[in-house]
Amino acid sequence: MITLVPIGEVKDAVLKSLAPPLAEIFAQETEVAGPLLLPQGGWSRTRRQYLASALLALVPFPARGDRALGIADVDLYAPGLNFVFGIADTDGRRALISLARLRPQFYGSPPDDALLLQRAVKEAVHELGHTYGLGHCRDPRCIMFFSNTLHDTDVKGPGFCAACNKKVDRGMRG
Ligand SMILES: [Zn+2]
Ligand SMILES: [Zn+2]
Repeated sequence: MITLVPIGEVKDAVLKSLAPPLAEIFAQETEVAGPLLLPQGGWSRTRRQYLASALLALVPFPARGDRALGIADVDLYAPGLNFVFGIADTDGRRALISLARLRPQFYGSPPDDALLLQRAVKEAVHELGHTYGLGHCRDPRCIMFFSNTLHDTDVKGPGFCAACNKKVDRGMRG
């Protein structure tokens, strides 16, 4: 089971469209949990961003073998980084993504819901991949390739390369 946990205001349509592709890629059921409030303590007034780990900390721990994915629609940062698309407990069970920088509008382009969803699926698969113990991959087509920019995200698959696929299988059994 993969539980999607909206944090703050997240459009229902996005959550509903995100669930089926994740269910297919990880061959697991997905469910959408009730929304959580954004953490007041995680807001940086100077950066005008939320601390990603403060949001991840709110995501309830799922049962053994299950995963929980926090989904926010606010700009996130991590110490030492200007922004992050998402973070994960490596070898853990929880991950988090933000939609804020996946929207074409963020970069002054016209809205494109299909593109937003495609990017959200990729970021979700990537961060969930970390929870199965995967590191970053050197194959730019593999979903575990590190996205420095959205261009990297748009180029890579939603799927794992053969080597990463094996690791996910192992991670799911372990
Ligand atoms: Zn990563
Ligand atoms: Zn790979």
